[in-house]
Amino acid sequence: MRSDPTPPLGIYVHIPFCTAICNYCNFNRGLYDDALKTRYVEALVRHIAGTEAPACTGSGAADTIYFGGGTPSLLEPAEVASIIGIIRDRFAVDPDSEVTLETNPESVDRAKLERFRAAGVNRLSFGVQSFQDAELRRLGRIHSADRARRVVEDARAAGFDNVSLDLMMWLPGQDVAGWLANVDALIAAGPDHASLYLLELYPNAPLKEDMARAGWSQAPDEDAAEMYLRAMERLETAGLRQYEISNVARPQRQSRHNLKYWTDGEWLAFGCGAHATYDGVRWKNVAATGEYIERVTNGVSPVGERRVLTRDERLEEALFTGLRLTDGIDAAQAGHRYGVDVFQKYGEALRPFIDAGWLVRDAGTLRLTRDGMLMANEVMAVFV
Ligand code: SF4
Repeated sequence: MRSDPTPPLGIYVHIPFCTAICNYCNFNRGLYDDALKTRYVEALVRHIAGTEAPACTGSGAADTIYFGGGTPSLLEPAEVASIIGIIRDRFAVDPDSEVTLETNPESVDRAKLERFRAAGVNRLSFGVQSFQDAELRRLGRIHSADRARRVVEDARAAGFDNVSLDLMMWLPGQDVAGWLANVDALIAAGPDHASLYLLELYPNAPLKEDMARAGWSQAPDEDAAEMYLRAMERLETAGLRQYEISNVARPQRQSRHNLKYWTDGEWLAFGCGAHATYDGVRWKNVAATGEYIERVTNGVSPVGERRVLTRDERLEEALFTGLRLTDGIDAAQAGHRYGVDVFQKYGEALRPFIDAGWLVRDAGTLRLTRDGMLMANEVMAVFV
């Protein structure tokens, strides 16, 4: 049992199946297979039911459940209902919990969304990525721009009042005007929340080869900075306020689950490759879907790695992730929690960033300015 009272937990559930594999994707996922999916859901339910996760020792209540992937919306609503059901049986779950399902536009229609709603999902996060067919094809995405434009409408008709869209920025062949057209299309779609991700090309990504073959390139760095800054301005004008480096939301619609990652929170995790953090311990389940199923089915723990975080690591991470928020971090409080004077420890290293106007120190808090968000990696490197 943990040593101090904490805010409620998050519960993450990983669904590793996709209908097609996008050419830039570096997540833990594989191609959908009906029989494998059925066995996987059985294993998940068994894992949750039999978990020796610390929350089961008594103290932990949860107020968010997050289905991530992969493509969780490939599950049947009844399967999602059974997973939510076992989580509610096993943990003290707040009746007003945020229950998010990552959803790909092509995997659902209005009727299926209604059934997800009835299953207990109350927030949808759509992987839209672009509102332009040529860009979607380049990424290997299998939905159309037209479908992307209609997902929020379908979600509303199915009863959802909390809908997020993911958009990818700095795509091959994309210029500032093309990007802003996507931002405008997102605003027109009317979501409650949006996440803007910079395309990151990992080594050996098939998209890299496609780009070399087709002669597509990414816009220069200065254009990427302009894309980011102008998008944030437009989104704010439209009522979607930035609250994290990559995330904007209408009032009361920030992702409660993701906020746990940025506010030194705690979460449990089920499914292959999923990682959890609780009471200073971090653990990760085995990544391979087959191995996960086999272990759980045979009553063997699916945890592949487990590490007790040192006090310094916990502090560094609290500062590192907290700085992603526009409100910044209460460094004095974090320091108090971990018994360190943050400004004494890091003050000198942070000074040049404050002088450059990237970082603001206001009494005990530290926050990045919007320009500073463009340089976040450099600033955060101070803590690691
Ligand atoms: S849908 Fe998402 S998880 Fe699946 S391959 Fe594409 S980017 Fe990866």
